[in-house]
Amino acid sequence: MQGDGAGVDPVGRHRYIAGMAADADPALPILPTLPILVVPEPLLKARARRVQPGDGALIRDLVPRMFATMYQAPGIGLAAPQVGVDLRLAVVDLMPGEKPAPLVLINPEILAVSEETATREEGCLSLPGQYADVTRPARVKLRYVDPEGAGHEIEAEGLFAACLQHEVDHLDGVLFVDHLSPLKRNMILRRLAKERRLKEAG
Ligand SMILES: [Zn+2]
Repeated sequence: MQGDGAGVDPVGRHRYIAGMAADADPALPILPTLPILVVPEPLLKARARRVQPGDGALIRDLVPRMFATMYQAPGIGLAAPQVGVDLRLAVVDLMPGEKPAPLVLINPEILAVSEETATREEGCLSLPGQYADVTRPARVKLRYVDPEGAGHEIEAEGLFAACLQHEVDHLDGVLFVDHLSPLKRNMILRRLAKERRLKEAG
């Protein structure tokens, strides 16, 4: 999910994330970011496969790079299919109080949603520059596994709930525009295609 970029210090956060990978050494090199796939890339519309025990090495390598990519964008959530990896894995950081609070979601599953809904503006790093109001359940209960293999169940509301649903959607090949009316969705997709053509031409 796209962030608003307020108060972003990409270099500082790269270092923070590099530190997660290997013992918080401020002298660590800044991690290179990964290219983010943009609509209409087919992988963004596919259901990702579950993470298996044998994926450990891949995940350890991928997660710090996904965080680096997300903070650089800047975004508050990034799913593995958005960086071309077919796995049910996403990273999230809402930066509460401007402090990093990185969350790694492996095989996340939404267990329950509230009947009450909430509408908020969403954006997506895979639909750059496009925003629309999306209505979703206001609260969710989510189960996921962390990189150490421990299972967790959390309840979320507000922006956190929207962000979790947005990222789990990515693992099922669903984009925020798929929650809009066909008219609004097509308007956004046409605008995106036009901006891409202009960029390619220019
Ligand atoms: Zn997204």
